[in-house]
Amino acid sequence: MAALDGLPPLRDVIQRHGLDARKALGQNFLLDLNLTQKVARTAGSLEGVTVFEVGPGPGGLTRAILALGAKKVIAVERDSRCLPALAEIADHYPGRLDVIEGDALKTDFATLAANDPVKIIANLPYNVGTQLLVNWLLPPQWPPFWQSLTLMFQKEVGQRIVAQEDDDHYGRLGVLCGWRTQAHMAFDISPQAFTPPPKVTSTVVHLTPKENPIPCAVDKLERVTQAAFGQRRKMLRQSLKPLGGEGLLLKADIDPQRRAETLSVEEFCRLANCL
Ligand code: SAM
Repeated sequence: MAALDGLPPLRDVIQRHGLDARKALGQNFLLDLNLTQKVARTAGSLEGVTVFEVGPGPGGLTRAILALGAKKVIAVERDSRCLPALAEIADHYPGRLDVIEGDALKTDFATLAANDPVKIIANLPYNVGTQLLVNWLLPPQWPPFWQSLTLMFQKEVGQRIVAQEDDDHYGRLGVLCGWRTQAHMAFDISPQAFTPPPKVTSTVVHLTPKENPIPCAVDKLERVTQAAFGQRRKMLRQSLKPLGGEGLLLKADIDPQRRAETLSVEEFCRLANCL
């Protein structure tokens, strides 16, 4: 892809701008431009789409997104050292890359969305990735401002996102994702693909919003899943005691002897709606 966009190889960019990776910022850079293109392609067509990217770093994924035809990229990066490298990409694609220096956890993405369709694509910093995902899943209004999320996580987090009942990885995150989205793991990326290599395999997860999720109040669903999975090995009549225990379960037509990990998303919604 260096030839495709005419920009210098990422290794040179990193060296020239002194971007030695910092662990505290979750910096594991993806330098293989074929791989960054594969990640960006997972989001489907980018024609006419505004892409929000979290943590562009030296810009490998950003370059792939722009080369694949996104109308615009709005990227939020916390590390000011990356800004000169990103400015070079912005010069190469005039008017198509806006970089916001800041903390993605404090960024109001919904208000950044203008009228264009929005897709979110990111190689997320591992320390804030799950929280960002949850923030994008929780808005009271649904469907949300985004058309899809294409996100890179540690594989174990990816497994929790796509997990369904009777799966060891099933928990609060799986219920939340399964309630409002269709989620699947697209492909894995080995540690060696990153600089520096992380300890574990990564995975790319693609999520699209369900148009009509089961009607249910987010806060109630959170209360039920928190209590149920907080004591996941116990029977629900025990773990849900603070919320009404057996009475609540019978009202929702659920056997009080069952355990959290056996309940479908639909059954969790039923419980929440009986609170
Ligand atoms: N996108 C680049 C890539 O694929 O090579 C870098 C990905 S690296 C895993 C995570 C990036 O997120 C780093 O550039 C880091 O500085 C940035 N970052 C970390 N915490 C952040 C935060 N709270 N808000 C915005 N960016 C953050």
